[in-house]
Amino acid sequence: MKFRKICKLLSLVMILALICMNGLAQKRKTRSSLEKLPNNIILMIGDGMGVAQVYSGLTVNHGQLNLTGFKSIGFSKTYSATDYTTDSGAGATALSTGNKTYNYAIGVDKDSVPCKTILEYAEEAGLSTGLVSTSSITHATPAAFIAHQPFRDDYEAIAADFLKTDIDVFIGGGRQFFSQRKDQRDLLKELRQKGYQVVFSMDSIQNIRQGKLAGLNAPDHNPAVVQGRGDMLPRAAETAINILSNNKKGFFLMVEGSHIDWGGHANNADYVAREVIDFDNAIGKAMEFAQKDGNTLVIVTADHETGGLVLLDGSFEKGTIVAKFATTSHSGTMVPVFAWGPGAENFQGIQENTEIFGKMMSLLKLGGVTPNPQE
Ligand code: MG
Ligand code: ZN
Repeated sequence: MKFRKICKLLSLVMILALICMNGLAQKRKTRSSLEKLPNNIILMIGDGMGVAQVYSGLTVNHGQLNLTGFKSIGFSKTYSATDYTTDSGAGATALSTGNKTYNYAIGVDKDSVPCKTILEYAEEAGLSTGLVSTSSITHATPAAFIAHQPFRDDYEAIAADFLKTDIDVFIGGGRQFFSQRKDQRDLLKELRQKGYQVVFSMDSIQNIRQGKLAGLNAPDHNPAVVQGRGDMLPRAAETAINILSNNKKGFFLMVEGSHIDWGGHANNADYVAREVIDFDNAIGKAMEFAQKDGNTLVIVTADHETGGLVLLDGSFEKGTIVAKFATTSHSGTMVPVFAWGPGAENFQGIQENTEIFGKMMSLLKLGGVTPNPQE
């Protein structure tokens, strides 16, 4: 009996020791994976892309999306300083500056005070920076990363703000806000004087491998995929990555799939699904580079959900969905955050949209900034 008791005790001690060792190993593993910091961050924003939007793309594309390769997944709370339901200005400003602000604000806090964006911090630290969008490059989402304006609708003022920075690459529509302005300034000429290669067609944009690039391939917005945009977004993302990756110090790039939001506003599920698939093709370009590079963190999220989309039925085989929308506007629901690459695990769980800024800043060791305390 005594011997048995000793045996039991010994095995208990051994089990405890094993658990401890395993715990230590886990801890070491977590620490070492946290210590591996990315040199580059590619932040991909699907405007209006909630879970149902992702799933509509996944279904229409017969169950295949590059996004399914992401293992670190969380959620982002998107409310703004003034509204449960944010607009894209406040939503992007939260991601770009870590501040909850009022709806329609661009790179300013709730008292309209300009706040430095992660793109500006990255520039300051000698990293290369870029913005890519299917909409006008002066539209709310890209604008919030580079401009500081009290209201999102002042596209000419936003275009002029591009000249105040040293952004390396921007590709999107919105040429008219640089060239046909009330103040008669010719911003295209000013960009050339600053050393930018200013080009207007996707073919000439794609040929550029280094230096500064202003690629303005449409007078205003690019059309929807279903109206003939083609593979502009994946091509533009690839071009930007090619150029920015010349800088061995690293880069920050934001890529926006703008039209997912517009499909939601139009309550057109096919429009939404096609835009998600196109955005996912751009995600594929980012992953392709990140896989080769090994030092690149890819984050895919949204500024908010649009349309209150619900999928009632669908077929992966046929690639069809039966959908309903609850609104032609935005909804207040959480949106997904997918992360892939060094530091990805930081984006798991439910987080404020503003925390994503703080996490990106500390991973890139920028500004010595910590995430803003949230109320
Ligand atoms: Mg947008
Ligand atoms: Zn919208």
